[in-house]
Amino acid sequence: MKKNIIILASLLIMMMQGNVMAAGGAVKSPTGIAPDRYVYYPGTEALAKDEIRLFACGTGLPAARRSQAATCWLVETGNGDKFLFDIGTGSMVNVAALMIPYDFLNKVFLTHLHTDHWGDLSTLWAGGWTAGRTGPLKIWGPSGATEDMGTKYAVEHFLKSFNWDATTRNFVLSPKPGEITVKEFDYKAVNKVVYDENGVTIRSIPAIHAGDGPVSFILEYAGLKVVIGGDTFPNKWYIEHAKNADVAIHETFLTPEALVSLYGQSPQQALGVGTQIHTSPQAFGKVMSTIKPRHAIGYHFFNDENTRYGVYDGVRETYDGPLSLATDNMVWNITKDNINIRMTVSPDAAWSVAGPTKPPRPPARGTVPNPITDFIKAGRWNVEDAQGPMIKEFKKEHNMK
Ligand SMILES: [Zn+2]
Ligand SMILES: [Zn+2]
Repeated sequence: MKKNIIILASLLIMMMQGNVMAAGGAVKSPTGIAPDRYVYYPGTEALAKDEIRLFACGTGLPAARRSQAATCWLVETGNGDKFLFDIGTGSMVNVAALMIPYDFLNKVFLTHLHTDHWGDLSTLWAGGWTAGRTGPLKIWGPSGATEDMGTKYAVEHFLKSFNWDATTRNFVLSPKPGEITVKEFDYKAVNKVVYDENGVTIRSIPAIHAGDGPVSFILEYAGLKVVIGGDTFPNKWYIEHAKNADVAIHETFLTPEALVSLYGQSPQQALGVGTQIHTSPQAFGKVMSTIKPRHAIGYHFFNDENTRYGVYDGVRETYDGPLSLATDNMVWNITKDNINIRMTVSPDAAWSVAGPTKPPRPPARGTVPNPITDFIKAGRWNVEDAQGPMIKEFKKEHNMK
C-alpha cells in the first residue's frame, strides 16, 4: 500500500514537471506513427541548440552486475559536443548502445580514480581506436596529494600496463588514436574552470571521499547548469557552487540496513560506509533541499525493488522536490522550459557507427617494427587451399591487386 502511494506520488511529481510519462499520444491512422515518444531511441532525435541531453550509462557499484554498470554519465550539448563524466567498469556497453561515432566520444572527465569510476577506460581507449576515433583520447582529471595519486600518473601507468596492446595495434593502425592526452588540474581548486570551449564551461570543486583527490564537476552551457557529483560526503563546496543548478547529480548510497541485509556488511561497517564515506539518503535530501535544483538525481546504489523505497523514504525525510533515483539507461532532456525524463531503448547487439571524419591511415610498411618474430612466423600452417579461392573472389569484387 505504502509502496503504491510512493509510486503514485513520484509519478505525479514527474507529471507536474511536464509531459514526462506521456503514453505516446493519440494514434490518428492505422498506418501512421505514435506522435510522442515516451522512450528514447538512439540516433533518432536531433538535439536543439539550447538543449542538453544527459544519459546515465552507469549508476551502480564496484561489484559487477548486468543491470547496472559502475558510474558513467554522458552529457551531450546542443553545440555538438559530448562529454563522458567517469567511465566506470562495465559502462561502455551502455555508451556503445547509443551508437554515437567513437570520434565524438574523445573527452573524458574523471571525478576520481576508483575503478568504479574509470575501470572501463581500456574499453573506450582500445575499442574507440579500432572503431573510428581519429585522434587521441583526451582526459581531464584531478591531481592527488602526491604525484603518484594523480590522474597523470594513473594514465601513464595505464598505458604502460597496456603496452602489449598498443605495440601490436601500432603495427596495423595509426598510433594517433591510441594516444591519450591528460589535463591534470589541482584537486583543491574551488570552482576553477578546467574546460572552456565552444560555449561550454566546466568547473571543478573538491569532494570528500576516501582520500585526497576526488572532485565534482559543474557544466554550464546555453544558460543551463548541470552538476555532476562524484563520490563524496556532503561538502560545503557542493552546497555553495551547485546552487541554481538545473540538474544536480549527487551520490546517495544504500541505506545502512540494506548494506547489512543485502551487502553482507557488519552494522558497524554499514554505518561507516553508508554515512561517513558516502552520502546517506537523508543527507542527500538535505543537500538538495538546501541547494534547490530544478531537478535532483541520486545514484550509486543497486536500484532494486527491495532497495529503492528505503532510499526514497530516506530522501523524502529531508527533500520534497523533483527527484530521479537513477538507474542505467535513463535519459534527461534539459531545456529552460522542461526536463523530460525517459528510458533509453537501445540494442544489445549495437555496432559502432562511422563518423564524418576518416580515421588516419595505418603507418607505412616498414616504419613500425613487426611485433611478430620469425620464430612465430615460421609456425604458420599453409591454408592457401582452404581460403585461397575466397580471397581471390574478394579481391576481384573489391578491385584489389
Ligand atoms: Zn569512490
Ligand atoms: Zn564510487
